[in-house]
Amino acid sequence: LADQRERLDVALQAAQMGSFRWDLKSGAVDFDAHLLSLYGAAHGADPTETYSRAIDPADLAQVEADTARSMETGELRTRFRIHRPDGSSTWLESRARVYYDDAGQPDYAVGVNLDVRASIENERALVAAREAALQASRAKSAFLATMSHEIRTPLNGVVGLAAALARTGLNAHQRDLLRALLASGRALRALIDDILDLSKIEAGGMEVRSAPLSLRGLLAELTDLLGAAAQDKGLTLSWEVAPGTHDLWLGDAPRLRQVLLNVVGNGLKFTDEGAVEVVAEAAAPGVVFTVRDSGIGISDDAQRKLFRPFVQIDGSTTRRHGGTGLGLAISQQLVRHMGGEISVDSVPQEGSTFRFGVAMTRVDAELDPGPQRDEGRLPGSLRVLVAEDNPVNQLVVREQLAALGIRDAAWATDGAEAVTLAHQRAYDVVLMDCQMPTLDGYDATRRIRADGACQNAAVVALTAHATVEDRERCIDAGMDGFVTKPVGVEELAAAILQAMQRREP
Ligand code: ADP
Repeated sequence: LADQRERLDVALQAAQMGSFRWDLKSGAVDFDAHLLSLYGAAHGADPTETYSRAIDPADLAQVEADTARSMETGELRTRFRIHRPDGSSTWLESRARVYYDDAGQPDYAVGVNLDVRASIENERALVAAREAALQASRAKSAFLATMSHEIRTPLNGVVGLAAALARTGLNAHQRDLLRALLASGRALRALIDDILDLSKIEAGGMEVRSAPLSLRGLLAELTDLLGAAAQDKGLTLSWEVAPGTHDLWLGDAPRLRQVLLNVVGNGLKFTDEGAVEVVAEAAAPGVVFTVRDSGIGISDDAQRKLFRPFVQIDGSTTRRHGGTGLGLAISQQLVRHMGGEISVDSVPQEGSTFRFGVAMTRVDAELDPGPQRDEGRLPGSLRVLVAEDNPVNQLVVREQLAALGIRDAAWATDGAEAVTLAHQRAYDVVLMDCQMPTLDGYDATRRIRADGACQNAAVVALTAHATVEDRERCIDAGMDGFVTKPVGVEELAAAILQAMQRREP
């Protein structure tokens, strides 16, 4: 017994811990010498008095509540601050076990108090450090979003005017130079989009939004977008929804499209001969997509690094094919956000298979087809109002409207002027820059909608802001469509058509 006692003594001291026994019937409390010294009390001091004098009044209610609960559960665990007679303070954690008599009544409790100040301070420092890190990450994200906006605006001028120049009489050599200029502009835009995405995801700013989607629609649209690229290389691009797999699901179509575009785009990029196939199949956690190509393949070693940002495997092929090395890193993050995983299986020189699943639930109702995609052309007789303050971008839009055969265009250089003009004539379409002096595009649209001016005009935002939130802000303000600068002529035409269809009653 003496040996055990000695060991317990050493253990309690080393742990900065003291023990107590509390008679729950008489209320008498006994502190051992360690506990008394933890409270800074003299040898032989009265425990009840020592405790009552030391505990911080702010913590009393919590300790009492925890104690009352422990009578039922049999276990006590609570924390409180104490102030010692010498003016020092600390945090104690009390842990005890409650013992019951034969009648089941709480009889006595035995437990310890331990000094947890160090761990509480650590915890607080960690919380503060985490908050600081999040803050820094948010600042980085905001910086990137701003930079992306600032770069997009002049880029719109470069790409837009280069495209306009391409429509003028040029010789073959000049056309080649322009084509290279345009390709660089588009590559720069893709890079900005990728960096913006990655920073948003890293800052935790990405949300998954679910809406009913059709697998067939999604895959057909994908082949629409990438079919030309496949044809150019003489590759077959095919897709299939596995037999027996339901078509309608609740999922985030834009994010899925982004991942598919990237993975299928890579398949086409790194395949010189043969085919790229896409299959969607119902499997846990919802739908699994398989993208198989007969391309150059990826070595085992390279497969391990593939999903890290800025990784490109073979310098020579990627230099030939372009890219940023961000696509798969972004895809992996997006897939994880959608509750799945992405993996790769590949044999060099034979081909690669990328597989990713996303969590989705089936939708059994009929899908509202929504506004149909129109293959039609824009009527040249449209009356268009353009609100744009930047002279270079005005020139870009002027050239694009001319390319679309639209002659009837009025110009406003800020939101207030746009509102005034909208009152004077019934326009069919308003192209609205979002950031303008005096009255921005959002408020101008709100005003036009509130006044009932140009009731039938489709308002399309022309903006350098590219996030989903920006899009929603435009829709909330009463706009019908949205295009992100730099805008191509076809893209602009498609956005106007779609917005007009949405506007139609
Ligand atoms: P990038 O923008 O460079 O395509 P990704 O993250 O999408 O960036 O891809 C990273 C690298 O992985 C590519 O540069 C390429 O080397 C390799 N890779 C991706 N997909 C394939 C594929 N289907 N076949 C062969 N290599 C691929």
